[in-house]
Amino acid sequence: MLLLVLLWIYSEQYNKYAQDLLREELGEIPNVYVKRRNGYYAEIDRLYVLPQGIVAVYEPKTGKGEISGAEGRASWIVFSVILDRKNHFPSPLTINNSNIYALKEVLRGINPDTRYFSVVMFRQGNIIKSMKLNAKKDDITQYVIETRNLAKTLRNIMKNHGTVLNNSEVYGLRDYFKSLSKQNDGVHCPICGASLTPFQKNRMTPKYLHCANFPNCKYSRLE
Ligand SMILES: [Zn+2]
Repeated sequence: MLLLVLLWIYSEQYNKYAQDLLREELGEIPNVYVKRRNGYYAEIDRLYVLPQGIVAVYEPKTGKGEISGAEGRASWIVFSVILDRKNHFPSPLTINNSNIYALKEVLRGINPDTRYFSVVMFRQGNIIKSMKLNAKKDDITQYVIETRNLAKTLRNIMKNHGTVLNNSEVYGLRDYFKSLSKQNDGVHCPICGASLTPFQKNRMTPKYLHCANFPNCKYSRLE
């Protein structure tokens, strides 16, 4: 029994180590902020520039529980077994696709063949119970995964798609996105450093945090 536990701990640790290594190797860029046309920011939790294209990872901030979702449904469900309670949250696929449109907008004219991959990644403690989605939305390849499958998903992307960016494009884009990467402490605006103030239209709408510097700074995010 003890041996089994030790083996389990070892394999978990090894898995985590392998994931960290791969992320480092692939030049993971955390918290990339891309300005939209309307002045607001798209917030990409993790971004990878690979020879096969650009991967945008979005991590929904739901509570722990079982996830049910479907493409085309505006709100998805997280069911907490412990609390025996359902909560709704806005479709993370839609959010990540809109982030990718912001990326396309700033990269217009760089390389028209650039491919985009959308990865919605649920954090540890979430289990994907039911998920219906198409492999593609327009020209964006879509994945909805649990956090432990990130390395596998990145490997699949590299294995199953041809090269569209050359080495200098990959490194150039990585440097560009690194310049858009900002610390996110959750309390301050990552763009201008002012405090964030909660805002909710009414009880039925999602809670947002707006930058106290509005309208000079248009940063805002879901709470
Ligand atoms: Zn701000």
